[in-house]
Amino acid sequence: MNEELRKYKCKVCGYIYDVLLGEPEMGVKEGTLFNDIPEWWECPVCGANKLKFKIVKTKIKKYYNI
Ligand SMILES: [Zn+2]
Repeated sequence: MNEELRKYKCKVCGYIYDVLLGEPEMGVKEGTLFNDIPEWWECPVCGANKLKFKIVKTKIKKYYNI
């Protein structure tokens, strides 16, 4: 899975949705891609809707001086 598709952050409260973990308490199974989460879903912390979420870019470390 593309690293960049794994995590989404709520711009309102900073909550992180991790695709690998899902949000089982809200009926979102682990491994559910953010785009596949139902439209009614909202941030479990502050109640913001999906539009308030932004992808988290994970930096991949590169080692050039080995
Ligand atoms: Zn939130």
